[in-house]
Order: sequence, then structure tokens, then C-alpha cells
Amino acid sequence: MTLPVLKLQGAVVRYDRVTAVDGVSLELRRGETLGLVGESGCGKSSIARAIVGLQPLAGGTLSIEGESLGGISPQRRRSLQQKIQLLFQDPAASLSPRMTVGNLLAEPLKIRRTFRPGRWAEVRALAESIGLGQQLLSRYPHQLSGGQARRVALVRVLAADPSIIVADEPTAGLDISVQGDLLNVLRSLRERLGLSYLLISHNLNVVGRVTDRVAVMYLGQIVESGPTAAIFNAPAHPYTQALLSANLTLNPDRRRERVVLSGELPSPSNPPSGCRFHKRCPIAQPICANLAPTLQASNNERSVACHFPLTTAPAIIPQAIAG
Ligand code: SF4
Repeated sequence: MTLPVLKLQGAVVRYDRVTAVDGVSLELRRGETLGLVGESGCGKSSIARAIVGLQPLAGGTLSIEGESLGGISPQRRRSLQQKIQLLFQDPAASLSPRMTVGNLLAEPLKIRRTFRPGRWAEVRALAESIGLGQQLLSRYPHQLSGGQARRVALVRVLAADPSIIVADEPTAGLDISVQGDLLNVLRSLRERLGLSYLLISHNLNVVGRVTDRVAVMYLGQIVESGPTAAIFNAPAHPYTQALLSANLTLNPDRRRERVVLSGELPSPSNPPSGCRFHKRCPIAQPICANLAPTLQASNNERSVACHFPLTTAPAIIPQAIAG
């Protein structure tokens, strides 16, 4: 089995007294796209920040290409961390309005003095290959379409020569056709440059289209993970089932199968006892309030944290898979 390019084990992220991420383990394999999904506030972005070094881990370990970041020199840590780049939510908003596209693309190379000769030519060729031709280099951000601005931001990230990209809601705010174009660009860059992606999104259509595997988060913990197609077709965790069924609005015939969750996502500062999902779970039993289920692996690469996993596939074929 190939070594994962990125491995989190028992990761804990805290902000003051709030534990936003509580014991998360996940692996990103070389050349794959792993989706991380869950409601807003479940801890997805905190994981992204910890992985790229913007937020320290309060517990657990992070390894990049088999090397743990704990106990290594700051120089080595920087060098490993540089292999991971974060594509921010609405990255186009981070483009300076006073800089031309040419200067925006060159800027990351000027900031980093470690770039090898010929890198600028490679970056220009890369930009051109995804539709940022010569004619755009003299334009300013406000003269770009939404899709072009996202591509400029993407090339700036790629200029750091990463092997892993953490993309936090990369298609947020784009209309459907522009989303599709951007996802195609991301997919083709993954093949050409041998990249691995951790894609964080609440948009299940996007996740279903581009990810190989998916991990579902609820209140700071992973509740289910495995191959995307298998999970989308037959979720084993009631929360995954509810998330997917909420995505059936484009499929009127299946609306009756919708699983409606009661209540709001509880606060991570005071998580429920036992299974964190028990107050909202439609099939909760008395044991669920007292005993927290652990993530159990099955023999088909799937894992689920539930005392009563769903064993029969509900007739849910989310739009992401169907379309
Ligand atoms: Fe629902 Fe119980 Fe499973 Fe939690 S452990 S998801 S409450 S059935």
C-alpha cells in the first residue's frame, strides 16, 4: 500500500476552551481527492488551518510524506509545510486590485527566493494552459471574470510548487457552469502535476463529482469515511444519510425520502454526552446518550461511528452521482 502523502492522527484543535476538532484521523493518498464534508461549524476549516500550519495542533500528529512534523527543526518543518498550499475560500478576493495579472502571478516567485531557474517560464506556461493567456497579463482583477480570477488565485498557489492542495470551498459563489469549468481545471492539474487534494465543501454535488473518497464530520469528529460512490449510494451513518437526503431538492421523485434533522448543530463548547449526534438522530436508542461510538473499519475501506449503522441502502441516489 502506498504511503499517504498526508496523515492526521488524533488531531485536536482548540480555540480558548472550545475544542473545534476532537481526535480526527485521516489520510490523503498520493494523487487522490479526498472530500471533507459536514455542516458549517463542524470543524472542517479548523482542520484545513491546522494542516497548512495556520493553527497549531493541541493534540495528535501531522505527517507529510511519511515524516511527522513533531520534533523536527523549524527549517525542515517549513520545507515540508511548503508542500501543502491552501486555496482559500473565495481566493479571488485576496487578489490586490492594484496589481496586474502578470504581477500577481510573479509575486509568489519574488517572495520566495528559493525558486529554481526556469520556474517563471513554467508558471507562465501553466497559466496559459488553463486559459490565462498573454492577453490577460496586463489586466487588473476587476477586469477579470469570476472564473478567470479563481484561476489566477489557483496559479499563485501552484507557483509554490506544492504536492498537496487544501481547497476550502473552492467553488463557493460561482455559478454552475463556471463551477464545472473550475472543477475540470482542478482535475486536469491533478493528473498533470501529480497533485493530491483535500477538498472541503458543504456542496455535495461538487464533492460527488470530483472526490475519490469522502470523510463526513459532525461536531469536530469524523463519523463516516470511505469511497465516495459507496457512501453516496448507501450511507451507513444516519447523519450522512440526512446530509445526502437534504440534497435531493433537484430530484422531486425522491423528496419523500428526505430525512429532516431536528434541532441545530450543538455548540462544540458543550457537546452532548455519548454519541454527539444522539439528540438529532432519528434512530437513537438509550445507549446512544451514554456511550460514544468509535469509528469502526469494515473490510471495504469504509468506517462508521454508530452503534446502529444503516445496513440496507436507502433509495437515495444524490444528484451528485446521478448527474
Ligand atoms: Fe444515531 Fe445512536 Fe448511531 Fe449516534 S450511535 S448515530 S445516536 S444510532
